[in-house]
Amino acid sequence: MSKLRFKAVEEAYKKKAVTVAAPSALTSDYYGKYVFNKAQMTKYLPKATVKSLEAVIARGETLDLELANQVAAGMKTWALELGATHYTHWFQPLTDTTAEKHDSFIEYTGEPGSPIIEEFSGKLLVQAEPDASSFPSGGIRSTFEARGYTAWDPSSPAFIMDDTLCIPTIFISYTGEALDYKAPLLKALKAIDKAAVDVCRYFDKSVKKVYSYLGWEQEYFLIDDGLYATRPDLMLTGRTLLGHDSAKDQQLEDHYFGSIPTRVQAYMKDIEFEAYKFGIPLKTRHNEVAPNQFELAPIFGETNLSVDQNLLIMSILKKVARRHGFRLLLHEKPFAGINGSGKHNNWSLGTDTGVGLFTPGKTPEANLQFITFVVNTLVAIWKNNALLKASIMTAQNAHRLGANEAPPAIVSVFLGEQLTEVLDTIEKSERASAIRIDGKKRLSLGIGSIPEMQLDNTDRNRTSPFAFTGNRFEFRAVGSSANCGSGMITLNTIVAAQLKKFKEAVDEKIRRGIKKEEAIFEVLKEYIKVSKNIRFEGNGYSEEWKKDAAERNLDCETSVPLIIDANTTPDSIALFEGTGVLTAKELKSRNEVKWEIYTKKIQIEARVLGDLVLNHIIPVATKYQSSLLDNVYKLTQVYSKEKADELGALDKGIIEEIAKRISVIKNSVESMVSARKKANRIDSERGKAIEYHDKVLPFFDEIRYQVDKLELIVDDELWPLPKYRELLFIR
Ligand code: ADP
Ligand code: MG
Repeated sequence: MSKLRFKAVEEAYKKKAVTVAAPSALTSDYYGKYVFNKAQMTKYLPKATVKSLEAVIARGETLDLELANQVAAGMKTWALELGATHYTHWFQPLTDTTAEKHDSFIEYTGEPGSPIIEEFSGKLLVQAEPDASSFPSGGIRSTFEARGYTAWDPSSPAFIMDDTLCIPTIFISYTGEALDYKAPLLKALKAIDKAAVDVCRYFDKSVKKVYSYLGWEQEYFLIDDGLYATRPDLMLTGRTLLGHDSAKDQQLEDHYFGSIPTRVQAYMKDIEFEAYKFGIPLKTRHNEVAPNQFELAPIFGETNLSVDQNLLIMSILKKVARRHGFRLLLHEKPFAGINGSGKHNNWSLGTDTGVGLFTPGKTPEANLQFITFVVNTLVAIWKNNALLKASIMTAQNAHRLGANEAPPAIVSVFLGEQLTEVLDTIEKSERASAIRIDGKKRLSLGIGSIPEMQLDNTDRNRTSPFAFTGNRFEFRAVGSSANCGSGMITLNTIVAAQLKKFKEAVDEKIRRGIKKEEAIFEVLKEYIKVSKNIRFEGNGYSEEWKKDAAERNLDCETSVPLIIDANTTPDSIALFEGTGVLTAKELKSRNEVKWEIYTKKIQIEARVLGDLVLNHIIPVATKYQSSLLDNVYKLTQVYSKEKADELGALDKGIIEEIAKRISVIKNSVESMVSARKKANRIDSERGKAIEYHDKVLPFFDEIRYQVDKLELIVDDELWPLPKYRELLFIR
């Protein structure tokens, strides 16, 4: 095994950057070539069909069969011209990856054995019935009732990946329950659209639609594929379960924004060419803080599409990595002791009249509107901080939150100095017209004045899980491997529900004869007062914050299985049902899935860890120990007893340390195995997940601690697993 390690290291060192040929055209010429977007529609569909399709998309409906047939015909021609031979419904089950089952276009023209043609009907476009019994459903479908439907979401354009026409679909059970992220996301987006439009109309009667926008920043690690292949833990769990810190890792902060290593630079170029073909508007690329960690981000877009694009880029990142001799790690915490990977979700709302609702305005109305949306978001997060945390909590993300530069596992909101001052002043003002804030440039709210805000007051408080950054909020607690849909469903839903409550409160005051602006002011003032506990501008990493947050009644739970409970409290059920996003049955079954996935992840890790320790580490440590014993024995043959004792003292110390550590490791592994067996016998998914968290997981640290100490004393020549310095610095 150690031979394998050295061979892998040697080969990794020799690897050169792969040459990536730039497309012989401007980016704008081939951008979106593989997406059935507006340009392709216009080219391949009759004018009337394009119009009908666009109307259906705008209304958020599904297509009737006649329209579907027309669209399918055009799509088929386009796909065949680009060399597609297969099609698939591309959907987003609750596993954080996408699923697809490919079917060929071929059909017999008549009897079996007759000539074949390529066929693709409207029926195949709009609906399919994959044999979906093995996707997690949390008990909604028992396995014998395997039918689940996928149905085209026409607001997500179809695309061609390799030789396959991919049709983005929702995935629902035979009885209509959502089994995926897309179906509830579309409902959440509808809810926020409706609720936000109603509120916008206080300020501008011409607003007809509000869009939710998402710009994700995707972090990832790249590891040489040869080294990866010699680490069973990376291969099977996506993270290193063992490994002592490298003497140098990120202390010098020399990787962040440093020059991009050449092999990686070639990889990034390749990724961009690919992404542009799929109409993914990648904008930035850079090194991240940890060695071998990188980030890319697109220009933000409409949330549903942006979620699809993120899923697509994750699979492109994975695929292209192989071409460059890399393996992609999307795990939230592949390496202990250095930064993990997140996926900052930059989120905002904007109207069809082009106004960003989190962008400070130029007119008094726009500014009051801006404050209205900020404050309602604050209240929504204050009331639902536990729920928002539950939307992004997984076994993997739990390792990241609260450690090394990641936000803590407590949701709070950072507003920055300027916005804080504005809210504080509103809170203190008696009447709307009394608002006065000193600033270089005053901007009237129509009810007083606040200073004009700097658009780029982006904060550098990296410890906040939810920060205002000038024209948007940045939700930083999202994990790197997650489907952004999960957090976006909850975020948009809680804000939608809150905006609805706000409107009811304001309308009530108006009915009582209070002027609109004063009514809005009064409600906002009250909101600012009650939601104060969610605002935190300090250091989220500090121990004081944990205490402070608990006193503020913010959710401080750190056990993933218990965090998930937040999804099904009576309040949460009322919230999701009230907005029409998810039913109680769906929420409960989704929690079952979450607990099940949690258990399985820990279960796999526990198995891999046990196996690595017993089969890879202990034999090697014993071998080294035996060579030391040999040496000690030989000393007694050559020297006097006294001299031999003196010369052998160091070796004897190591021999004993190895023996002690091996014994602790063996005991811990045994106890872990019996804890696992006991947990496996628990029937309820929740109970099992809790048991895995409370009783199995704690052994990981104990075992790892001992093994990492062995790594420091055992002969490097013998050590079988590539070390952190090799994994993190060879590129
Ligand atoms: P930083 O690392 O400084 O936070 P990046 O430039 O890496 O910023 O990423 C910022 C992301 O936020 C990009 O995807 C960008 O398109 C997105 N973004 C910018 N403005 C908005 C907005 N109004 N709504 C949503 N996303 C936005
Ligand atoms: Mg950011």
